[in-house]
Amino acid sequence: EVAVCRLGHRPGRDDRMTTHVGLTARALGAYRAIFPENATDAVETARDITDRFGGPFAVERTDSPTGVVRNWEGVVAHLTMYGEPVQAVEADVRSALVDRREPLLVVVGAEKVPFEIYEAADWNVAVTNQPHSEVAGLAVFLDRLFDGAELDREWVGASREVVPQATGKLVESVDEE
Ligand code: SAM
Repeated sequence: EVAVCRLGHRPGRDDRMTTHVGLTARALGAYRAIFPENATDAVETARDITDRFGGPFAVERTDSPTGVVRNWEGVVAHLTMYGEPVQAVEADVRSALVDRREPLLVVVGAEKVPFEIYEAADWNVAVTNQPHSEVAGLAVFLDRLFDGAELDREWVGASREVVPQATGKLVESVDEE
């Protein structure tokens, strides 16, 4: 099982980014997101989307994301441009998650990440060694981890379901089926 922890959040400036960390975590196979205490909008959006489009996906807040990382009972992958290439470590991470059934915490930063996080992580993982975005890094990391299987995830408890269309938009109410 995979959880995603966002280390920091600047209200206003980071609202969309933190929201997208949550939605991307959910869409691409994580089962839980842990946000800083002040990320209220992102928590609300993730819960609202889960209510409508299904789960399982839990979202919660913490007053100490660093404490969550420090006390995690399982393994920790911290996404950072300074880390080891994802293509070099993905097999090790997958083995811990799948073979040894260790709960995996994927950590993404916001502003400057304290050095303690680099030390607490089992892997510091780079999706390229170029600076980009926590949302992009998370998406590529999860897709590598699950080897594409997350694209076929089944959703439970949805009230709405998108029916894929070559053109146009079709959303059905699940209750009416
Ligand atoms: N300036 C911050 C620092 O020095 O740690 C990082 C800011 S960056 C906009 C925010 C987050 O995006 C990072 O903490 C990391 O989780 C993620 N990120 C950015 N580029 C990445 C990359 N190439 N690989 C993996 N994660 C990346």
